[in-house]
Amino acid sequence: MVKKRIVIALGGNALGKNLHEQMLAVRETAKAIVDLVEEGHEVVISHGNGPQVGMIQKAMDSLIKNEPQYGKVPLSVCVAMSQGYIGYDLQNALRETLLERSIVKPVSTVITQVIVDEKDKAFENPTKPIGSFMTKEEAQVLMDKGVKVIEDAGRGYRRIVASPKPVDIVEIDTIRTLLDAGQIVIAGGGGGIPVMVRGNRLKGAKAVIDKDFASSTLAQLIDADCLIILTAVEKVAIHFRKPGERWLSDLSINDAKAYMKEGHFAPGSMLPKIEAAVEFAESAKDRFALITLLEKAKEGIAGKTGTVIK
Ligand code: ADP
Ligand code: MG
Repeated sequence: MVKKRIVIALGGNALGKNLHEQMLAVRETAKAIVDLVEEGHEVVISHGNGPQVGMIQKAMDSLIKNEPQYGKVPLSVCVAMSQGYIGYDLQNALRETLLERSIVKPVSTVITQVIVDEKDKAFENPTKPIGSFMTKEEAQVLMDKGVKVIEDAGRGYRRIVASPKPVDIVEIDTIRTLLDAGQIVIAGGGGGIPVMVRGNRLKGAKAVIDKDFASSTLAQLIDADCLIILTAVEKVAIHFRKPGERWLSDLSINDAKAYMKEGHFAPGSMLPKIEAAVEFAESAKDRFALITLLEKAKEGIAGKTGTVIK
């Protein structure tokens, strides 16, 4: 098999929803990743952080409720904390799995900042609910301070933040250097820490970048051959969960664009993956994206399953 440079984007099921689940999930996740390393591929791993960043923000919110002297913790700092904590579990699970298979390769996590454009239209129209649920009264206190809050599907009130598109990755040279030295890198966790350029300073943005888009940017910047998005379905479908449901093995860029227009992919779950996959596949000749189940990564890269977008 031809050796490839691969970005593996891990979805929620690769990490679980709490500390205990994550500890168990990363072992299975590590096996799927080391399967690819064992075949000689170069891998960079990115991941989501929805439940983890929610947990961290909740913890910080309740801390400052009781002990306000600590001061408010910005969302960008919560994302940084989630990268550290997830990276810690993931890199140790990888280390252990590599050693079990007698593969000597260092693994490290790069705290990754992703530049966003402060003129991105997403800042005018925040859409992404984050953090803990609040009562109407608690929400009003925040709204009076100018914080954007919505009622989230009958479950209570939540803050909403902007989800701007990634523009560039600050630590990209570090990631390339580690990769060129044959090391395994975990980067761009949770879509990266969103930052805005202010002269020599990088200012954390009140935003959450979609991990699928950040992974596509990362894959383009390291000149990867393949972007693998590992999620909770083996293939992408049209007419998903409806009469006429059809699972796709190959998806051309043109068909993907047509299906997106026809509304086959749910916004907030499959749509960003298809958009990110198309963006990557279009970005240069011979680049392709693969969407499949975590456990099927090895079979997918061998062309035996999953949906290939090219
Ligand atoms: P992740 O945590 O991996 O980002 P998401 O839940 O955001 O996972 O997205 C994956 C989910 O998208 C699948 O589990 C599936 O339920 C849903 N989905 C929506 N539309 C489709 C579709 N057309 N084909 C396959 N899955 C779809
Ligand atoms: Mg998702």
